[in-house]
Amino acid sequence: MPENPTGQPDASLHDADSQYRHLFMQAPGLIAILRRREGVCELFNELFSKVWGNRDVLNKPMRQAWPELDGQGFFEIVERVFDTGNAEYGYEYPARADWHHTGKTAEAFFDFVYSPYRNQEGVIDGVMIFGMDVTARVQARKQLAEQQLLFKDITDAAATALWMVDKHGNITFVNQTWADWTGHPKEALLGRGWVDFVAHEDRERVISSYIREVTRKWQYHVDFRILRGDGKIQWVAATGKPRYLPDGEFAGYVGSCMDITERKKWEQILLDSEQRFRTIADSAPVLIWMSGPNKKTTFLNKSWTQFADESSLLSDKGLMQSDLIHKSDVEMVVEQYRRAFDRQREFYLEYRMLRNDGNYRWIGMKGVPRLANDGTLVGYIGSGMDITEMKEHEQVKNDFIGMASHELKTPITSIKAYVQLLLSIYKDADDEFLKKSLTTVNKQINKLTRLISDLLDVSKMESGRLSLNSEPFVLNDVLKETIEEVQHTAAHHDIVYTACSDTITVLADRDRIAQVLINFLTNAIKYSPEADRVDVNVTCKQNEAIIAVKDYGIGISAEEQNKIFNRFYRVEGRNEQTFSGFGIGLYVAAEIIKRHNGNTWVESHPGTGSVFYFSLPVHSTVA
Ligand code: ADP
Repeated sequence: MPENPTGQPDASLHDADSQYRHLFMQAPGLIAILRRREGVCELFNELFSKVWGNRDVLNKPMRQAWPELDGQGFFEIVERVFDTGNAEYGYEYPARADWHHTGKTAEAFFDFVYSPYRNQEGVIDGVMIFGMDVTARVQARKQLAEQQLLFKDITDAAATALWMVDKHGNITFVNQTWADWTGHPKEALLGRGWVDFVAHEDRERVISSYIREVTRKWQYHVDFRILRGDGKIQWVAATGKPRYLPDGEFAGYVGSCMDITERKKWEQILLDSEQRFRTIADSAPVLIWMSGPNKKTTFLNKSWTQFADESSLLSDKGLMQSDLIHKSDVEMVVEQYRRAFDRQREFYLEYRMLRNDGNYRWIGMKGVPRLANDGTLVGYIGSGMDITEMKEHEQVKNDFIGMASHELKTPITSIKAYVQLLLSIYKDADDEFLKKSLTTVNKQINKLTRLISDLLDVSKMESGRLSLNSEPFVLNDVLKETIEEVQHTAAHHDIVYTACSDTITVLADRDRIAQVLINFLTNAIKYSPEADRVDVNVTCKQNEAIIAVKDYGIGISAEEQNKIFNRFYRVEGRNEQTFSGFGIGLYVAAEIIKRHNGNTWVESHPGTGSVFYFSLPVHSTVA
């Protein structure tokens, strides 16, 4: 030791002492020195003091300084170390005390060493404590354990089976659901054990797809059957997703298996019913097709494939098998189909189609919208028949009607001319019987003429030869003139006319419009023998005029109302003697109005009367 000439304490010694002191005080562990067996608190560092909330313990025996530690083993450790001279260690040792001196007791955990402290003579004089507060670590571990338990509980309670595999594809985790399904402990499923529970039929497929996807690290989805512990077969849908560690390293897969037995059962039922539908459709002698939401054909039955080559029926641009439709009809068919589709309406169309023998056949095709449960349109279903023979018969009938009415027209015209001549010759004669007879003959001839010209019209309409001489005219004038004309022949009825405007102009065939009104009026009079009035009312809508002919007669049932505009349709059960007719007047009227882009309809109640309507687009209205 170097000499100290000043006799003052050595400065370097003093420095070292203060450094050790500093080290002791600032040390990151809890340090304390307790003297004697009763552990009088002699020295402690800052952290120790802080943990105890700076409570005043200096020179106090331990039982007095920390009374709440009584019974927790610490005092006994001090005494044992003092007595035996052997150090004692604690690991995550629990202690309950009023830490930080706040008046509340809490649990903390410590790692510590209690070692004997000897005086300069080497005699044990106290105990030195060196401890670390490890409460945070213990709590974190506890929390982790709780979370793991929660995870286990949740996964075990899940109705789906859950699993995890490592990066080599070996199962490292399965939940209880798996074990419940298979009736085997979870361990049996680990590694590649799960494969044993895949039904034999699916095993190869499932394994190869599993290996393929896992090697590529892609998400995967596969349905398969498993052998349940209770002997039943269960369908599952397995999905898996690659799992990565926070540093981006591939860690394997995590996935689930859902029980889809019920779904598979329904799918099978659906498949069976589809199969049944297909069998029915294939054995039906009619042409059945279906289309999807994009209007294109999705199904054709066997009759179709016998009718024509499937590829041309289903060709890409094909709507309604249009590639085979006669070029004069195809535009109309596609247009009508599109319109019906967009409005979700039924349709019936007649057109020609090329059969595989090279002949065109007439097809009568009905289409009905197919709606899903929620009302959305999923496409159409249609059925059609070869109506060529019917068309041919109709043609013969039409030709006959055309010819017969044409042939009848000439003699009738000549008879009418003679009767009128006779009427004018004998108008001042005294022979009342002769005059009455001639008037009756004239009336009947007028009726006959109208019938013949209606028949002629029917045949013209059927063969597309009905031409319209359209010109703009004031509708009201024609209506009034026609009413006047009919009024002359109506002995018992008053025809009352009202209109929203007097100057409704339409672009139409004047004679044909008059013909429609004559038909409505004569019907109104004919079918209301007990009444004395018929009303004609014109209402103006934005772009159309609506003409209503109202009678107070026998009326028409709702069921018949749909049919009376059909050709040759007459309401059955009515006394043919009372109400003569052919059942073509309304058909002709409706066809005429249709050709003017208007509509015809009826509202009626049996016993009360009917209102027949027709509408026409307005050319202009002058107020
Ligand atoms: P018809 O020559 O038989 O009168 P229509 O085509 O003019 O032929 O009428 C078809 C059927 O509609 C008639 O047979 C009749 O039963 C019914 N009908 C037409 N108009 C009326 C009406 N105003 N009141 C009651 N029934 C009517």
